[in-house]
Amino acid sequence: MRFLSLFGALCLAAIPVAHAEPTWTIVIHGGAGGMERDRLTPEQDKAFRDGLNAALDAGSGVLAANGSALDAVEAAVRVLEDNPRFNAGRGAVFTWEGRNELDAAIMDGRTRAAGAVAGVTRTRNPVGLARAVMEDSPHVFLAGEGADRFSLEKGLPQVDPSWFATPERLQQLERMKAEKLSFYDVDQKYGTVGAVAIDAAGHVAAATSTGGRTGKRWGRIGDAPVIGAGTYADDRACAVSATGAGEYFIRVAAAHEICVRIRLKGETPKQAADGVMAEIGQLGGTGGVIVTGPGGTADWSFNTPGMHRGKASSTGEREVAIYKDED
Ligand code: ASP
Repeated sequence: MRFLSLFGALCLAAIPVAHAEPTWTIVIHGGAGGMERDRLTPEQDKAFRDGLNAALDAGSGVLAANGSALDAVEAAVRVLEDNPRFNAGRGAVFTWEGRNELDAAIMDGRTRAAGAVAGVTRTRNPVGLARAVMEDSPHVFLAGEGADRFSLEKGLPQVDPSWFATPERLQQLERMKAEKLSFYDVDQKYGTVGAVAIDAAGHVAAATSTGGRTGKRWGRIGDAPVIGAGTYADDRACAVSATGAGEYFIRVAAAHEICVRIRLKGETPKQAADGVMAEIGQLGGTGGVIVTGPGGTADWSFNTPGMHRGKASSTGEREVAIYKDED
C-alpha cells in the first residue's frame, strides 16, 4: 500500500501539470462621436492615444498583478478623469450656469453591488466617490450637495471646483450660447470615460465617469451614473460602460439590456451590443458601448464615426483606436 502510494506520487510528479494561465481582459472608452481622420491633428490624435494607453496601463497593471476587475476599472477611470482631454473629472464640460457637475458609477459583477454619484463638485475622482458609496454607505446613488458632504466625511481628496475647469470647455459653453448650438455641435463628440474588465478569477466590473453634456440644466443627470443605463456588471452575463446621448441610454436601459440579452437570449456580447446600439439609433440616439464577459471577450459597438477606445488582455492582445476604420 505504502509502495503503491509512493509509486502513484512519483507517477504524478512525472506528469507535467498544465497550469492554465489566468486570463483577464480590460476594455476602456473615452467617448464616442465625430472623430474622423481629417478632424484631428496628428498632435491631438497622439494625445488621445497616449491618454488611452495610460489608462490601459493602469487597469492592466492591476489585473496582471492578480488584482480584481473592480480595482482595475477604478484605476483606469481615475487616469482618464485626471486627463483634461476627456469629459470626466478635470476637463469636464460646463453646465448652463458655468459649473462642472460630475457623475460617476461603479459596479461589481460578483455581487451586483453598485455605487453612483451625480452632480458632485468637489471630489477629485468621482469614480472613487462612487466606490465609497458602494462600500461605505447603505445606499447606491447619492446626488448633489449630499454626495459632496458624504465625500468630505469619508475623507476623499477634495479640490476647488476650479480644478475641473479648462478654458477649452468654457469656450464651448460660450459658443453654444452665442451661436445657439446644441451641446453636440460645439464638440462633435461625447467624452465620457469608462472601463469594463474581467479578472483572472472570472469576475467582471464596470465603471463610468462624466461631466455630462455641455449646457446641461436643471440638475440634469445622464446615463453614466444610472445603474443599468450607462453602467452595469453581472458575473452571469457581462460588464458594460456606455457613452453617448444619455437620455436614450436611460430610456433603453442600455447596459442592463445588453447583459439580459446575453443571459436570457444567449446572444454573444457583440450581438447584444450591436442590437442595443441599433435600438438606440432607431430612437434617434448616438454613442457607443464597451463590453466584456465570461471567456474574456472584449467588444465594442458604436453608431458614430469614431470612439476613443482600447483593450488589453493577458494573451498579449493590446489595441488603442479612435476611428471606425481601425476595427
Ligand atoms: N453619456 C453622457 C451623458 O449623457 C455623455 C457622454 O457620453 O459624454 O451624460
